[in-house]
Amino acid sequence: MENTPSPSLKPPFAGVPLGIHGKLHVMPAGHGMQGNGTFQKIEYATRRIERFALQEMARGILREMVEKKGKMTYVHQVRNCLRAKITKHKGVTLFYNVERKQANFGNLQRCYSVWNCPICSMTITEGRRTELKQGLANWIHTGGHAYLVTFTNSHHKGDDLGQLLEGQKKAFKKFWEKTKVVKMLKCLGYKGRIVATEVTWGEQNGWHPHYHMIFFFDHEIDTQGLQSYLALEWQDACTKVGLKAPDLIHGVDVRNGTYAAKYISKWGLEEEVTKGHLKKGLNGSLTPFDLLRGSCTNNHYKTLFKQFADVFKGKQQLVWSKGLKELLGIKQVTDEELIEETEKASIEIRELGDLIWGLILKYEKRAHVLQLVEQDYQNGTNLLHDFIYGLAQIHVGEIIVNSHN
Ligand SMILES: [Zn+2]
Repeated sequence: MENTPSPSLKPPFAGVPLGIHGKLHVMPAGHGMQGNGTFQKIEYATRRIERFALQEMARGILREMVEKKGKMTYVHQVRNCLRAKITKHKGVTLFYNVERKQANFGNLQRCYSVWNCPICSMTITEGRRTELKQGLANWIHTGGHAYLVTFTNSHHKGDDLGQLLEGQKKAFKKFWEKTKVVKMLKCLGYKGRIVATEVTWGEQNGWHPHYHMIFFFDHEIDTQGLQSYLALEWQDACTKVGLKAPDLIHGVDVRNGTYAAKYISKWGLEEEVTKGHLKKGLNGSLTPFDLLRGSCTNNHYKTLFKQFADVFKGKQQLVWSKGLKELLGIKQVTDEELIEETEKASIEIRELGDLIWGLILKYEKRAHVLQLVEQDYQNGTNLLHDFIYGLAQIHVGEIIVNSHN
């Protein structure tokens, strides 16, 4: 993040936290409890401020550039996400979505990263979770069964994340090529799977990439029997590709449909930026966004987040096996379409000139601007106008100070 000096602020800035220097804006306990709607609105606004603040932090960590077709570009597009314009000769547009009661920006690039962008990941994950829920419901409705199957393998502190993932990829290839595995699953009425890749980091054992899968069968199966069989084959596949062999108790875990439904209903929420503090998992493990959140006070977390972002760049978060979406009645939608979908049905509020947009970025006020658009639309106020006027005044003040130096 850039070190922007904070100018002395006069209303309408008074009381508005400037940027992410210092503590993140956290809603005081009990504040905004006037009614459920008001509370939800304040909670949404608070989370949005945190998401934008965390995106700033991710930008600060992922600064690397590469040459592409003779031009220098950022390795991680989160650097430009909701900052750089798409069409240069047009301004940034402010929209208001009447249905969702939310403001959003137009003519700005998006990074579509589910791994390192707290803003894009929230929208994409929300859409994917809806698909998962719908797919499972459709399958159960037709009399089918689903199981939650988790694959892990042994790892230790100091293991390289990239090598671990590469090894696991090879082990899965070996595993799914086993004729006896394929035949056995077919006998049981197996129809396909959804694979969710997740990773956590713990002080004790380092990186822990693991895979939660939903297996779909056309009839009920014996979970214990399947677990014992898969564990043996998974152990064999790991050993054959040179990975540390998982033990037969922890390598594969098979749980019934109740667990599958529970997992799906919460999928992505752990990663979603909803926590105002660093909350460790049961075994002290941290999610990548936990690392990002903690990186403002811990340089090691910064290094870890960068490692994670570099290794996971371009990887898919959720993979449905071939033909499963059709079978479960879910249509194919890209991440880009998911984000555009949430921006549809919006009305244009106003266009911002480059100078004002530059100042909004400089003072890290994107989330605040969206909130003002929402308040103005809902309450008939002119807060955005006053805010922009204030920004312009500060800018003029800075020019005068600089001209005297
Ligand atoms: Zn993004």
